[in-house]
Amino acid sequence: MAALFIFDILMALKDIKKRIHQAEVNFSRPIGTTKLIAVSKVQPNDRIETVLDQGHRIFGENRIQEAQSKWPAFKEKYEDIELHIIGPLQSNKTRVAMQLADSIHTLDRPKLAKNVARLAQDLGKCPELFVQVNTGDEPQKSGVLPKETELFVKECLNMDLPVKGLMCIPPLNEEASLHFALLKKISENCGLSQLSMGMSGDFEKAISFGATHIRVGSAIFGERVKSPEQ
Ligand SMILES: *Cc1c(COP(=O)(O)O)cnc(C)c1O
Repeated sequence: MAALFIFDILMALKDIKKRIHQAEVNFSRPIGTTKLIAVSKVQPNDRIETVLDQGHRIFGENRIQEAQSKWPAFKEKYEDIELHIIGPLQSNKTRVAMQLADSIHTLDRPKLAKNVARLAQDLGKCPELFVQVNTGDEPQKSGVLPKETELFVKECLNMDLPVKGLMCIPPLNEEASLHFALLKKISENCGLSQLSMGMSGDFEKAISFGATHIRVGSAIFGERVKSPEQ
């Protein structure tokens, strides 16, 4: 069994990298610039180590508690790990998230922005930030509304927050392209260059719309055993 999943993951990772390269070529994106974030939420540690042993260093987690239980040990064992927080961030977890993560993709409300700015002073450092945009205007989903994004980004930059780009999770039953195009448009209006968009099922499409960071979980690790929070 063990040998089999190692082989599966190895092949999957190789295949994803090949498809990223091909998409960059097909859509005239700068070659080798798309960041592959391996989303390791709820994956067993041996699977994560398999990916680490392949030399991959960029990972994503969506729950702080889970990230905290796994990544400090991996960071001791492997050099140059880059950890991205891609799930909703509660106020009481913000400090831990900022200590642990290199990047947070889910800056989604003014109160959180103020909290992050205060903690950045306190900690003397701040992860790279993405503003999450609720492109589908879905009531149950976090994120700033499209029409409010430009002002929110301005406010964040005024607080000296290192906002690098925008992030979105398209609605499940809609054509993702519309949302990728919208996010791209908003990012241009904001003067931001990074776009965190695209998952296992649509990362090539996201690259065609200029994704700089894609978040791929199940296509690398296999299906998640527990269902994800979001
Ligand atoms: C789980 C998750 C992903 C990865 O999803 P897959 O379909 O398994 O690739 C990407 N982004 C976010 C925000 C997630 O929570």
